[in-house]
Amino acid sequence: MKLFRADLHIHTVLSPCGDLEMSPSEIVKNALRKGLDIIGITDHNATGNAKITKEIGERNGLFVLCGAELSTSEEVHCLAFFENTDALDRLQDYIDMNLPFVKNISSLFGYQLEVDENEIITREEDRLLTSALLAKLSDVQLFIHSLGGLFIPAHADRLRNSIYSQLGMLPGGLDADAVELSRNCKTTNFLSSHPELKPFTLIRSSDSHCPGDIGTASTEFMIEKPCFDEIRMALRGINGRYVERI
Ligand SMILES: [Zn+2]
Ligand SMILES: [Zn+2]
Repeated sequence: MKLFRADLHIHTVLSPCGDLEMSPSEIVKNALRKGLDIIGITDHNATGNAKITKEIGERNGLFVLCGAELSTSEEVHCLAFFENTDALDRLQDYIDMNLPFVKNISSLFGYQLEVDENEIITREEDRLLTSALLAKLSDVQLFIHSLGGLFIPAHADRLRNSIYSQLGMLPGGLDADAVELSRNCKTTNFLSSHPELKPFTLIRSSDSHCPGDIGTASTEFMIEKPCFDEIRMALRGINGRYVERI
């Protein structure tokens, strides 16, 4: 086993706030340049660029976890990751059922584009993807776990769209596979003001919206090889796998 470096929170050009340069090919290229072994693709309420990024990554020796950053009805951001494309498609169905139709105004909020390997636009998303889903945190958590996915409340230390900013506390019954802290959060300080987080596995990611941000925060996984099951075992701290303290 050895340590593999992961940045599990990266937005593509499908997120309205994602830079136009964040194509799947560019993301893979930058991740490899930064020495990452694993990345997570987490567009706001969307999965459309995840599979192509995984394909490009696979051909270039980069493991890509496919998922999304969901916004619950309480406007808590949560990362969700799935092992296979079937589960990812079911997540997309769930998003389609729960995303209210608010038209995106690209000149105001940004473009929401699906692109292929050669950066050719294949689809433009009409709905504003940053809207909150009509599903509360506890339902989103249940749904993700029902498909065998990983459920990770995002950037818990932030003053917007975090579990603390929106709910004021960790809800009872929170069954998170990990909790994410953002780039500049001092773990020791944060844990001393939130000791209830101590039982949870903590990860740190970049929440990249432009190529230069990729890998500016990361988490190391002690695992056999980069794959979904090994990452899940590390998050649970079982069979000798673990996540390095951030
Ligand atoms: Zn977020
Ligand atoms: Zn994000």
